[in-house]
Amino acid sequence: MNSKACAHFRQNLIDWYDTHKRDLPWRHTRDPYFIWVSEIILQQTTVDQGLSYYYKFTNTYPTIFHLADADEKDVLKLWQGLGYYSRARNMHHTAGIVVKKYNGHFPDSYKELLELKGIGPYTAAAILSFAFNKSLAVTDGNVMRVVARLFAIEKPVNTTKGLSEVNKNLSHIFDTKQPGTFNQAIMEFGAQHCKVHKPLCNSCFAKDYCKAYADNLQFILPLKEAKTKTLDRYLFYFIPLFVENNSLCTYLNRRTAKDIWQHLYDFISFETTRKTSPQNFLKSKIFTQFLADNSIKRSAIDFYISKLYHHKLTHRHLHVTFISFVTPPLELGQPYIKTPLSQVKDYPLPKLLENFSNEKDFNNFCLNLLPVR
Ligand code: SF4
Repeated sequence: MNSKACAHFRQNLIDWYDTHKRDLPWRHTRDPYFIWVSEIILQQTTVDQGLSYYYKFTNTYPTIFHLADADEKDVLKLWQGLGYYSRARNMHHTAGIVVKKYNGHFPDSYKELLELKGIGPYTAAAILSFAFNKSLAVTDGNVMRVVARLFAIEKPVNTTKGLSEVNKNLSHIFDTKQPGTFNQAIMEFGAQHCKVHKPLCNSCFAKDYCKAYADNLQFILPLKEAKTKTLDRYLFYFIPLFVENNSLCTYLNRRTAKDIWQHLYDFISFETTRKTSPQNFLKSKIFTQFLADNSIKRSAIDFYISKLYHHKLTHRHLHVTFISFVTPPLELGQPYIKTPLSQVKDYPLPKLLENFSNEKDFNNFCLNLLPVR
């Protein structure tokens, strides 16, 4: 694209945005707190799904002081269903730093923003350009797609070389006079017009100089390098059920290890390295040892086994079986927390467990599964 085409794109992009932009709450503010919240949520999900989380989050924590003061467990509960829970934990941590170190005002320097947990180059550029109108380009997936097509970049955009080519070409079309608006406009253009599967080339103001369109590459670009191999994980969740103070109780486990779902709650879990039937697992050494450690007599217990649940995470496929059993009250130590079964849903749970605990009548579900000896 020559400089005339670049100037044409710059001008027409802003005109297109003025006419087509969606009315979104974070576009009505220059407050870096709201911009930050929206950007972190949008890294997780689409605008349509992210909106309800944005409203929930900003209504519950209307300022960074509210978020900094919050209990991490409540923040994770609000985030439930979005995935990548480390992002919610980082937000909570960063809110505390911004309050303590910067009196609740986000710094307006790239370097200082990058020192905050969970804020990388993309989010820093978004905060600085949207809130402070600083001249920094934001390169999200939508932007990469538009630029890769306009300039027919054939290097995979998820590699260092590909990204650097995207950024180099983006600088040719970037509008330094209104960086915040330009960034919003090109992201919206990617989301609404130069779409992943159905780019609207016939009605595009850039079709006269778009290289991908000229070479009929618009359905092929951008290229991406193959993803990391997916790992299968096999989990057994145990739900002991006992009555205490007239309530049906169980134990939850707070996940502290550096693994999936860190700081969320789940049940007592065991993992096997390969596919194992529940019947075989119940006879395994590791499980027998668990029963012995907790003075539970295997012969006195009926186990209730759920169907096999499959759950996909990035790079991991989980295969999960829930097994409940009725037992006299147990006294398990840390990290297990005794809780009435009816209160399990009040804890921040991974999506899989949230779905499971929402199964029709969860209490009965736990008690009415097929007994196996
Ligand atoms: S012509 Fe097609 S591929 Fe090129 S920018 Fe427009 S919509 Fe995207």
